Parts: sequence; structure tokens; C-alpha cells
Amino acid sequence: MSHQVTLIPGDGIGPEVSEAARRAVDATGVKIQWEVAELNSDLIIKTGQSLPQSVVDSIELTRIGLKGPVTTPIGGGYTSVNVGLRKRLDLYANVRPVHSLPGVASRFQDVNIDMVIFRENTEDLYSGLEHEVVKDVVTSLKVITRTASTRIAEYAFKFAAQTNRKKVTAIHKANIIKLADGLFLRCCREVASKYPEIEYKEMIVDNASMQLVMRPEQFDVLLLPNLYGDIVSDLAAGLVGGLGIVPGANMGEKHAVFEAVHGSAPDIAGRGVANPTAMMLSAVLMLQHMQELEAAKRLHQAIEKVYAGKKNVTPDVGGSASTTQFTDAVIAAMK
Ligand code: NAD
Repeated sequence: MSHQVTLIPGDGIGPEVSEAARRAVDATGVKIQWEVAELNSDLIIKTGQSLPQSVVDSIELTRIGLKGPVTTPIGGGYTSVNVGLRKRLDLYANVRPVHSLPGVASRFQDVNIDMVIFRENTEDLYSGLEHEVVKDVVTSLKVITRTASTRIAEYAFKFAAQTNRKKVTAIHKANIIKLADGLFLRCCREVASKYPEIEYKEMIVDNASMQLVMRPEQFDVLLLPNLYGDIVSDLAAGLVGGLGIVPGANMGEKHAVFEAVHGSAPDIAGRGVANPTAMMLSAVLMLQHMQELEAAKRLHQAIEKVYAGKKNVTPDVGGSASTTQFTDAVIAAMK
């Protein structure tokens, strides 16, 4: 059977790591018809459209996307296409498994870190509702709804139950943001009450940040509203060796877009040294979603084998291999 997938190379290191992931997926033998959809800062500036209809149309058709990062200008300019795409396709659950890889030099290499982050993906301070009340006075609206909070909580608990996870920790700031984060927590508690076999905990986001650094092994499934989920994801990536290795999935009712946690990394773009592991592991999640379980397992095991060998890994994780050398090694490890 052949699958159709929309491949969005993105910009910065996006085209380099997307090409690596595409090669690795093709090497599994799974037949994929790739529909390449351009979405990058040059195109956005040229066309004035932050989310071209052609990209949305392609994912509407294929229902599955594998996406590289896209740059968002800071403090002005066009709005984030990444946020725009997630809202437009209602990709409400951002799922980010964070676990150690063999041989990666991180400060926590002796700790078994194995957690999954569930970040609400459509609202919170990412509503884009900002307003200059009078000169030099600005408000940004944090939108939290029962619908969105309940469905991300249900997604996280359902996943925990299906994968035999033991604990879900909801992370919040309801001591200060009483109404918005209070509603998020109420929804999490209601869903938690339907899963008595799973331990449910709550933690204030500042304490959670410290606990993640001091005792990361205590965390299993993390459940967060959008902004805390964004920040905590990068923190968690730092525990296991950096952004080069942490994958992600944006899941909706109808569509799924798989993309790494990292951004376009302009500091290393075009140098051929970007680590494609995060994109490849995002592709592993994609293959699982397509029920290509054997191929997903083979690609995952090949990546782990290359890490265990230490020789062919990229500079961000302590090696000296290029993006292409790492990719070649992964493909060779699958044979
Ligand atoms: P970033 O994730 O691009 O980079 C942070 C640091 O991690 C940099 O030092 C970078 O070199 C390193 N890094 C990231 N990915 C790597 C990889 N695969 N291999 C090796 N090193 C890697 O974050 P940033 O610099 O804050 O953001 C850059 C741009 O990316 C911004 O415009 C931001 O808006 C955008 N962004 C896009 C997405 C997305 O498309 N989903 C996500 C996050 C950031």
C-alpha cells in the first residue's frame, strides 16, 4: 500500500533535516508519495500570505504532514505560520516524547528520562489577541476554554492508559492566574477522575521547572497549557541532549502533522551540521500513526544503533559527523 504525505521542508535547517528524514523513511521500504509544499519566510514575505492555501489544501488531501521548522520574526512582522497551521487544521494536541538516547553526552546521561509532554496547541497566550491600549501600554489575551482544556486532558489520559503509563502531572500557575489556569486544572481533574488507575498530580510551573532539572526521573506524562508546554518542552530537550533529538506530533481529529520541537536554527543553517534525529524520530511517530509499525521500529532501532556506536553523530551531541554522514549511517544500520 502506498501512502500520501505532505512534506514541508520549511526554512533555515528545515530543508537539510527534512531531506534526511525523507531519505531515512524511503529506506524503510514503506511506499510514500511525497507532496512537497513550500512554506518558508522568503515565500511568506514575497506573497504576503503567512499561510498559503496550497499548504492547507495539500494536508487536507493527504491528512498527514512531515514538517520542517519555519522562521517567525521576533517582536513584529508576520504572525507564526506554525501556530497558524495548528489552529487552521485544529491540531489540538502537541505530543512530545522525551527520552534519553544511548551514548548521548548529556548532564543526565546516568538518569533514565522517559516522559511524554502533552501541550495544548490552539489557545492560551498564542491566541494572537494583542492590543495597545494607549501608547506603551499593551495587553495580550490568554484564552483558556473548557473545550480545549478537556480534550487535551482526555488525549493525555487516553494515551497514558493505552501505553501503560503510571502518572500524569498537570502543570499550571493557578495560584496567580486563578481563573484561566484554574479552569484548565478543573478540566484536568474531571478527566483524571475517570482514570483512577493513573496517579494524578498537579505542580506549579516554576516548581515543575526546578523539579525537572533536579529529579527528571519522577516525571511520566506531563499535561500543560500552550505557553508552559512550549517552554517546558525545550527545558526537557535540554535534559536529554538538546533540541537536535526531540521529536513531536501535532494531532487533530482528522489531520496529523509531525515536526521536531526545534526551530529553524539560523545559527547553523546551511552548514550541513544540523542534527536530523528529531525529524527522523518525528517520522517514526508518523510511521506509527500510519500503522507501519515494523518500519517505525526499524528506523528507531537504526537511530539508536548509530548513537550507541558514537562515531557518526553530529556536533550538537558531541560528534563530528555531518547531517549526511549521520543519515547514511542510519540507512546503513537498517540494512
Ligand atoms: P531553535 O530551536 O531554532 O535553536 C535553538 C538552539 O538549538 C540553536 O543554538 C540551534 O543551533 C540549536 N538547534 C536546534 N535544532 C538543532 C538541530 N536539529 N541540530 C543541531 N542544533 C540544533 O530556536 P530559536 O533560535 O529560538 O528559533 C529560531 C527560529 O525558529 C525562530 O524564528 C522561531 O520562531 C522558529 N521556531 C520555529 C518552530 C517551528 O517551526 N515549529 C519551532 C521553534 C522555533
